[in-house]
Amino acid sequence: MQKPIPTDDNEWKKNLTPLQYKVLREKGTEPAFTGKYINEEKDGTYNCAACGNPLFSSDAKFESGTGWPSFDKALPGSVKEIADDAAGMHRTEILCARCGSHLGHVFSDGPTKTGMRYCLNGVCLDLEEKK
Ligand SMILES: [Zn+2]
Repeated sequence: MQKPIPTDDNEWKKNLTPLQYKVLREKGTEPAFTGKYINEEKDGTYNCAACGNPLFSSDAKFESGTGWPSFDKALPGSVKEIADDAAGMHRTEILCARCGSHLGHVFSDGPTKTGMRYCLNGVCLDLEEKK
């Protein structure tokens, strides 16, 4: 279910936990092996925790061993990719295409046939289980 997008910082802070705010709005990273959904196997759709935009199908989820929930493809048009040269590394950052919140990074070393590995912060996701 889509939620209205907050218009200012106070509203974001009110709607998110402190860790969600740090990751989604300040491009933080949750510590590996601490987040939700790493071993989640339920069927459904992973939505943006900030705005409810559907981002990933559980069909695209795979066990990466990295300590973060990982997917081999995003739902069409759901995420935006931008170059991220922070932290002395060249990476591709992924943002929610609807609300612009930071979600994680995408790498081209995926083990499945798409060759892509979308590395997500669990705190950015909200699983809507298939009924
Ligand atoms: Zn969003």
